[in-house]
Amino acid sequence: MNDKSIYIIGAGISGLVAAIELERAGYYPVILEAGDRIGGRIKTDEVDGYLLDQGFQVLLTAYPEIHRYLDLEKLKLKKFRPGAIIFKPDATFVIHDPLRNPLKGVSMAFSRVGTLWDKVKLFSLIKHLKEKEIDAIFSSPQSSTLEYLTKFGFSKKIIENFFAPFFKGIFLETSLATSSRMFEFVFKMFAEGHASVPALGMGQIAQQLFDKLEHTQIRFNTRVTGLKKNQIELADGNTITADDIILTTTPNELTGQGEAKFHQVTNLYFTLQKSFIGKPMIGLVTDEKFLINNLTFMTDVSQSYAKDGRALLSVSVVKNVEELENLEELIALELQVLSGIKASYFKHVKTYTISRALPQIKDSKNWMPYQHTKLYDHVHLAGDYMLNGSINAAMTSGRSAAEAVIAGD
Ligand SMILES: Cc1cc2nc3c(=O)[nH]c(=O)nc-3n(C[C@H](O)[C@H](O)[C@H](O)COP(=O)(O)OP(=O)(O)OC[C@H]3O[C@@H](n4cnc5c(N)ncnc54)[C@H](O)[C@@H]3O)c2cc1C
Repeated sequence: MNDKSIYIIGAGISGLVAAIELERAGYYPVILEAGDRIGGRIKTDEVDGYLLDQGFQVLLTAYPEIHRYLDLEKLKLKKFRPGAIIFKPDATFVIHDPLRNPLKGVSMAFSRVGTLWDKVKLFSLIKHLKEKEIDAIFSSPQSSTLEYLTKFGFSKKIIENFFAPFFKGIFLETSLATSSRMFEFVFKMFAEGHASVPALGMGQIAQQLFDKLEHTQIRFNTRVTGLKKNQIELADGNTITADDIILTTTPNELTGQGEAKFHQVTNLYFTLQKSFIGKPMIGLVTDEKFLINNLTFMTDVSQSYAKDGRALLSVSVVKNVEELENLEELIALELQVLSGIKASYFKHVKTYTISRALPQIKDSKNWMPYQHTKLYDHVHLAGDYMLNGSINAAMTSGRSAAEAVIAGD
């Protein structure tokens, strides 16, 4: 055992991975967590027998980091079917697997979202990204995703009908301003693997990391209010002196250094007697007039998301709807227009407003040398905001910060 006192602030994915790495090196870290449970932004609630992920998110099986830390078989991953269901007020159609096999057949559905030329372009983009290493992606010149797609030669039609709703739901912003590096990375991950969720909800990912810990103490409901050198100030007025600290949240609130901006999202859950999609697929709403961006019946992906046999629907709204008082009714009405099922049949379960969902990052990265995690002596930074907003990046950042502490840098 190494008796250095190491404190990790935050029990999200990056904090849990940092603890795993520190334990491997013989340390007994302590995690200070403001909330009452592990997981950070990846949590699953159980409400009335329904599993509700706090925000619609997926695990991409091609993420390299997850193969270091997760036992995917034990998570009993349930895969989404590649492709998407496009919802328009006057029509609904399925786009089969455009990211894997764009040239297969000339589908009628595809002709409604893009041109034949778009199919050829998709094929060449996929080929290009499959050959491009992740490190090369993150060292490429950046532009906005919208500029990137336009420059690549995609038509306005396919951008509006497919890329925009698909990537708005991933980047959680409405103008596709997110870095083209992130677009290339996520697109590559979708093309090379599967979108999936653990059978019992995304929270299982954090749980599995937590279950690996043997010598880590976690103190819940312990909010850190300030950091001064290696002194940790707690909300209850106590101060802890640490040999080393790993901070997994943005440092601005605790040290006054830097700034942090996040994209927000609103996620609503409804139940219905029966799914109107009937397939484990993501539904995209392409009409700008709608509040809904994307929707998925979680019970089409994993039946365990509902105990009573009803269909559990997750709806994501990327537009800022903070001011709307009757959001649930408006969404139920939109669902009526899209599905033809009466709004009153959609039973609202819960709404999550997630104001700090994804960090806004100007210079997205895949990794960084561990020396770059240093904020100042004895304090290192981890968290997805250091690299890019993904589970993969949260894991990498946790490991880098732990490596810095282990190296004594
Ligand atoms: C709605 C949504 C959708 C997403 N979709 C995807 C997706 O599809 N695929 C994907 O790969 N990623 C997705 N992500 C991103 C992914 O969830 C995050 O990248 C990852 O969970 C970040 O982990 P983290 O450890 O860096 O930060 P966090 O999870 O934010 O952990 C930080 C922890 O620190 C604690 N904390 C904060 N301040 C203090 C304090 N002062 N004192 C003590 N504790 C403190 C917090 O309570 C929290 O537990 C999504 C995120 C959201 C919210």
